[in-house]
Amino acid sequence: MMKRKLAAGNWKMNGTTPSLAELQALVSVHKTPSVDILICPPATLIAQAAGISADSTIMIGAQDCHAAASGAHTGDISAPMLADAGAGAVILGHSERRENHNETSDLVAKKALAAHAASLIALVCLGETLAQREGAQTLDVIADQLAGSLPDGTTGANTVIAYEPIWAIGTGLTPSLEQIGEVHAFIRSRLDDRFGAGAAQDFRLLYGGSVKPENAAEIFATSNVDGALVGGASLKADDFSPIINALE
Ligand code: PGA
Repeated sequence: MMKRKLAAGNWKMNGTTPSLAELQALVSVHKTPSVDILICPPATLIAQAAGISADSTIMIGAQDCHAAASGAHTGDISAPMLADAGAGAVILGHSERRENHNETSDLVAKKALAAHAASLIALVCLGETLAQREGAQTLDVIADQLAGSLPDGTTGANTVIAYEPIWAIGTGLTPSLEQIGEVHAFIRSRLDDRFGAGAAQDFRLLYGGSVKPENAAEIFATSNVDGALVGGASLKADDFSPIINALE
């Protein structure tokens, strides 16, 4: 499988209609990128964002979905609804969902199944807390989250994995390149164990947590890093564009 690198932006709960000017700027600047670009605005902007990016290669994604396709779930949004609005991917199991909404890996796996059924790429997030890092539990935590969050049927085509240490998100702190490389190599080997020898090479493994124009190039040069999931620095095209360029 041809594996293109991926620059993914997670706008989180930021943005109203005027913010789409930032997406428009990305569309104008990155006409024929050699890497994949994904922007995940809040759900309220997905349909408009999909319209803006329609004639570009930039994909629009969501930040969460429900595990069911429809039903009595007030306030929730299903994977088929996201696809209908123009999304091609959905972030699942972000640490802010795991922490703020008590999402378990088991629920994330159910959501990933729903995403796959709706032909959405599931962008599944994993990451340890600072206490777990300091307690030398990082690889155990990652192993548990990885095993629990990926449903059977997961492939490198329908799923992207993002390693996001919780203590690095929005803090300006980043792990050392050795630490990033260690976790990414570990994830790659676990994917082979689970899905069969050779399967892991098809997966895009993103690093996320305080990726900025200043540190993107060295992170992207780290082995087994196939792109980034970017929060704060994805909100402005002037910040996200150089990160895309660093990946190209
Ligand atoms: P950050 O967020 O880039 O603002 O640290 C990353 C994320 O939460 O995906």
